[in-house]
Amino acid sequence: MYDYDLLVVGSANADLVIDVERRPAAGETVLGGDLAVHPGGKGANQAVAAARLDARTALLARVGDDGHGRLLLDSLRAAGVDTAGVLVGGAPTGVALITVDPEGDNSIVVSPGANSRLTPADVRAAARLLHTARVVSAQLEIPLETVAEVVRNLAPGSRFVLNPSPPRELPAEVLAACDPLIVNEHEARVILGDARVSGEPADWVRLLLAQGPRSVVVTLGAEGALVCDGRGVTRVPSVRVGAVDTTGAGDAFTAALAWRLGAGAGLAEAAAHAARVGAAAVTRRGAQESYPTAQEVEALCG
Ligand code: ADP
Repeated sequence: MYDYDLLVVGSANADLVIDVERRPAAGETVLGGDLAVHPGGKGANQAVAAARLDARTALLARVGDDGHGRLLLDSLRAAGVDTAGVLVGGAPTGVALITVDPEGDNSIVVSPGANSRLTPADVRAAARLLHTARVVSAQLEIPLETVAEVVRNLAPGSRFVLNPSPPRELPAEVLAACDPLIVNEHEARVILGDARVSGEPADWVRLLLAQGPRSVVVTLGAEGALVCDGRGVTRVPSVRVGAVDTTGAGDAFTAALAWRLGAGAGLAEAAAHAARVGAAAVTRRGAQESYPTAQEVEALCG
């Protein structure tokens, strides 16, 4: 009955990365290494991560009619994502300009570009996609009113998963649809306010649940995750691995969780699988390039 296990509604960016000896101060020019261009953006990352796991995945997004847009479409299609819902044109493809120093500290400027032109009308026009997906996931690198329109147009019986990143205050209508709301510590701090995020992470989970979502997942990096669906807080351990690069781990975690929930798993079981996928993703460099296949997850975690 469903054509897709997962529909991701979100951003697609080209990440332009230059290694530098020192990040430039105001008015300064520094020379860096060769430019590396990587497909990124939280929406495209989630879609690629899910498709690599063999989930039937579609993406609703907007890219520019330019080389970066074509790079993103190529990467999505190579992973097996259905790109019929990726709209082209209206503004240049979103770009993140990233300089990284030898300590690994970076400075990033993001131009949302076409991501900021993904409108509520685009969501309404994609009703068929929305109504043929078992699970719909979103993040906040597209306009909040577009995410709100997704919530209003969900098919009865489908499930909505939100990673509110970059974090901002959420309207009650969006919060009430989240099943689950998935946040890391930074996102929890913005949503709850710094003063309330103290003490045990299990306390933040309860505070987040009190804001209205149907369930909550808090990711804790190498410490794994906490989940709560109203029947107590469950800790999901991480898998011990030699972490090389955690870029995009949260996106892989969210995609894997959404897919397993759609397949009928309970929240703790889905999060345990997502923790295995997140762990596999941190053993390789990059975001989309680091995402494992189901076989690779099995080989790493048993
Ligand atoms: P984000 O990228 O959004 O900050 P996290 O860093 O919390 O998200 O990572 C998401 C998930 O990926 C974690 O809950 C965990 O399961 C897995 N993960 C992240 N870092 C590591 C690590 N160093 N070792 C093992 N698993 C990790």
